[in-house]
Amino acid sequence: MRQIKLISFDAEGTVVTPDFSEAIWHEAIPALYAQKQGLDFAQAKRCIAEEYGRIGDQRLEWYDIEYWFSYLGLGSSEPAIQSCMGKISYYPETTEVLSSLVSEYRLIVASGTPLELLHCLLRDIEPYFVRIFSSVSHYKQLKSPDFYLMICEEMGVKPSHVIHVGDNWQFDFLNARQAGINAFYIDRSGKNHHESLSDLTQLKRLLIPPI
Ligand SMILES: [Mg+2]
Repeated sequence: MRQIKLISFDAEGTVVTPDFSEAIWHEAIPALYAQKQGLDFAQAKRCIAEEYGRIGDQRLEWYDIEYWFSYLGLGSSEPAIQSCMGKISYYPETTEVLSSLVSEYRLIVASGTPLELLHCLLRDIEPYFVRIFSSVSHYKQLKSPDFYLMICEEMGVKPSHVIHVGDNWQFDFLNARQAGINAFYIDRSGKNHHESLSDLTQLKRLLIPPI
């Protein structure tokens, strides 16, 4: 761990709770759709879930809020985003861990969330990070091994000098590891198979062992 220069964090499910996303994707969008189509909320929720499922998380559109508002004919996304801002919350250990790592390491965010949502999600913790990368907005791709290599190049570090931590097995763990990054999978479910972290405190202990 002595040669680590840069720590990269996924956003949702890693430093930010899924509450905001839950509110926007599964409450606000179905509510607008219900209103537009004259459906009740439960029906609209089912239709929307089907639409999401049809695209799936391996395609860029899945992550693109503007795509969904335009595809579903819901007008501007801005009022819906604003109405969910109160739902943004961080995991209990997030701020403490970031503030203890920031003096020793450069910290970045590497997320698949588009920038317009990412800046909202990170609003209270953005000052901890030297750069915010959105694979979708900056590189028009999912978090592939190439995305991680481009970030390393942009930051001027070797992948072996980088740690990435995130809660998606494919996008945060396998793909980052394939790029040569020291990847950690965060599993907050408590199932905790070996090598996974149950929260960010464990990452901090690896990097700054208690005296
Ligand atoms: Mg995530």
